[in-house]
Amino acid sequence: MQKTIERIAGDSEGTIYEFPVFRFDGTDGTAASAYLQAALHAGELPGVVAIDALMPMLAKAEAEGRIRGAITVVPWANPIGRAQYHFGEHQGRFHLGTRTNFNRAFPLLAAPDLKLLPDTSLGGADQRLKSRLLELSLGRDVVLDLHCDDEGLVYLYIHTSLWPAMADCAAAMGADAVVLWSEDSTGTFEGASIMPYQNVPANVSRFDRRAVTTVEYRGMLDVDSALAASDAKGLYRLLATRGVLQDPSVPKAGDFTGAVVPLENIDMMPSPKAGAILYDVKPGDRVAKGDRLATIVHAPGEPGGRTEVFAPQSGFILTRRSRRIIRAGEDLLKLAGDRKSGDARSGTLED
Ligand SMILES: [Zn+2]
Repeated sequence: MQKTIERIAGDSEGTIYEFPVFRFDGTDGTAASAYLQAALHAGELPGVVAIDALMPMLAKAEAEGRIRGAITVVPWANPIGRAQYHFGEHQGRFHLGTRTNFNRAFPLLAAPDLKLLPDTSLGGADQRLKSRLLELSLGRDVVLDLHCDDEGLVYLYIHTSLWPAMADCAAAMGADAVVLWSEDSTGTFEGASIMPYQNVPANVSRFDRRAVTTVEYRGMLDVDSALAASDAKGLYRLLATRGVLQDPSVPKAGDFTGAVVPLENIDMMPSPKAGAILYDVKPGDRVAKGDRLATIVHAPGEPGGRTEVFAPQSGFILTRRSRRIIRAGEDLLKLAGDRKSGDARSGTLED
């Protein structure tokens, strides 16, 4: 395994950002290769600690000659966001300089060709970082971008072109749910990792062995050693299932038994009022149409000071907010509906 340090020039003289990259050489040039990154949203740490638990497993596999395809690991992919604090609060989701989401505005290439990457010398540090992360990952067969939600289940975003071919991956990781999406014009890392393969010959796209997903490892506070160990095992099983590494003790992936939800079925549930949220439901709960999801206390102690929010359709709760203060129009939770949502925003990849 080799460790190298990536350097991203800052936007002024004297500022430079660094992050480590770990590479394992494979023994078989024809085997599937892999790229894993965590904390692109720099405060989302379940994936960081999962990688921390995975690395000794990879080191052991390497020592025993069982790593077949090349593996690149970027445990903390966003040194810019990692360093952003605003009035004492960490801000890892948006670049403070541009207000751009760190998981948007990745270059969307027409083909998996690094020569198509834009010149980012004048583009800003966050654009340079995005371009470099795409460069590190493009061409890898398995590309995993590890995130988490506010509070949530373990779920994967997967492009429809890779489903159901990636059901083995979802099963290996023990995901609770898979959310299928088909269009991304915003340039998420996942979109930038899969869109270049949509209009190229089949011997380049290789959808039979390609696996690209945004992994949502529950919530921001679900950072602990037991979950990290079990998530690392899930990542390891996925790498074994896809032949990136060899381990006879890993059983063949069974059928995926979690929920499969088209993105169009997600109801985002905007809050009608600003106030304090009293939730009636938590991630994983099944709800029927008309069930109360939450009460917003917007005028405490006053008649009419509470507003209730009800399920627009049946389904299950995928995520909810970790903080209990909300503004009108902000999303209360994600309801994975049994049917297409009436909310026009529900078709966008929302991470
Ligand atoms: Zn995220």
